[in-house]
Amino acid sequence: MKFTSTRNNKLRVSGSTAVLTGLAPDGGLYVPVEFPPVTEAEISAMAEMDYPERSALVMSKFFDELSLSELTDIARRAYSTFDGDPAPEVKLDEGLYVLELWHGKTHAFKDMALSVLPLLMTALKEKAGQKEICLIPVATSGDTGKAALEGFSDVGGTGVIVFYPDGGVSHTQRKQMVTTLGGNVRVVAVKGNFDDAQSAVKSAFGDKALQKRLAEIGCKMTGANSINLGRLAPQVAYYFSAYVDLLTSEQIQLGDKVDFCVPTGNFGNILAAYYAKRMGLPVGKLVCASNDNKVLTDFLESGVYSLDREFIKTTSPSMDILISSNLERLLFEFAARDSETVKEWMASLKTEGSYDVGAERLFEIREDFYGDFATCAECAETLGGIYEEYGYLCDPHTAVAFDVCAKYKSEVDSSSPIVVVSTASPVKFASTVLESVGEKAPSDDVKALEALEKSTAFPVPKSVYALFGMEERFNKVIEPTDLAREVEDFAASLVK
Ligand SMILES: *Cc1c(COP(=O)(O)O)cnc(C)c1O
Repeated sequence: MKFTSTRNNKLRVSGSTAVLTGLAPDGGLYVPVEFPPVTEAEISAMAEMDYPERSALVMSKFFDELSLSELTDIARRAYSTFDGDPAPEVKLDEGLYVLELWHGKTHAFKDMALSVLPLLMTALKEKAGQKEICLIPVATSGDTGKAALEGFSDVGGTGVIVFYPDGGVSHTQRKQMVTTLGGNVRVVAVKGNFDDAQSAVKSAFGDKALQKRLAEIGCKMTGANSINLGRLAPQVAYYFSAYVDLLTSEQIQLGDKVDFCVPTGNFGNILAAYYAKRMGLPVGKLVCASNDNKVLTDFLESGVYSLDREFIKTTSPSMDILISSNLERLLFEFAARDSETVKEWMASLKTEGSYDVGAERLFEIREDFYGDFATCAECAETLGGIYEEYGYLCDPHTAVAFDVCAKYKSEVDSSSPIVVVSTASPVKFASTVLESVGEKAPSDDVKALEALEKSTAFPVPKSVYALFGMEERFNKVIEPTDLAREVEDFAASLVK
């Protein structure tokens, strides 16, 4: 399988190049030259496979430089760090299911891909004969950071430096990151919001002088953010697995369409569902759920993507994003793979702060997608409501999805079953969860976790409590303009 760029459809690169560079040289995102089909027979065969085997089968469609057995080995090692089934599906009601993607080490869905990516990178690096250290700067809105730190910690030939918005992540998220062990990790707070941190990381990638200085000391920058194909591919896999689980539990028959409702920020998770559909999975509607930062809701309503809005801090911080990077891959498809059109839109976003895809393309996008949003108050009410009605406790991000799922069901006449994608464990957002189920939330983190466990009987893993006794290793706060210097300083510490 070869890959091309959303900003230059003539480009052809291997899977190794795509994964090891992250971003295309023209600033575009790597996309497969065509969607590799997964046949009905293969979907049926997945019924007999465990999760790592299903994952490896889907990933093998993208990365043919690795054998199926090498990929199975990678998936097995990656998902061995999970607590039980990596992607269990829970039935709440007739036609209503939850796909839980938070049974990994950091209790959020980023683990699904970030436990695989370091192993995929090192395997592809070996095949490609790359000698340089992979230096991985990551901008995080909260969950990616810890998942990347855990995934890469002490993986030879790699180093990861995480930038998070100062004051823009939850207590638990910050604590998880700044206590990470390992000789090849660093965590830095950046003044501003997530988009400021992400923009600064993006400009470091575009900084040729920086690349040159890094090359001189034997380092090469690689993106591990959700735009990396090595993250997208493992995410496609769980949509297949979720469908197969509905088959084996006789909830559906092969060929029946299933809708998915996805709490969305950077558009990576829901894009993976769209890729699964294009590869042959019988998917109906993809319901794109946003919080108050409803740039995607407005886009799906009007065809205009506009940054002319306030950035709002919500109770679902991992979705507090205004620039949904992975949307560019979707635009590429709906522009009939014309990279010039995508380039125009992206240029307009940069200069005007908006672009307009036009009525016709919007109509086509809406054949596949439905979008709506939930306010913080609606999110809290839905979280409490789902708990009351089904005895099912979810985190605020998942509650946003439940809220939008209900709006979709009330507005659109669809008989398809719907799977709500659950992206974090309630323990990561104990205070919000407690308040949503009508309890007082103690301001102390450990007390909040204890209260959560006491009032809802939700089992809080020991590792989460242990976190609060751990030493904080990192406390630096920088301006976005100092990010490149910080990356270079970190690189120097790696090669020492
Ligand atoms: C990252 C994240 C999201 C958003 O996923 P995208 O792929 O960026 O759209 C939603 N919920 C949680 C808990 C997350 O960590």
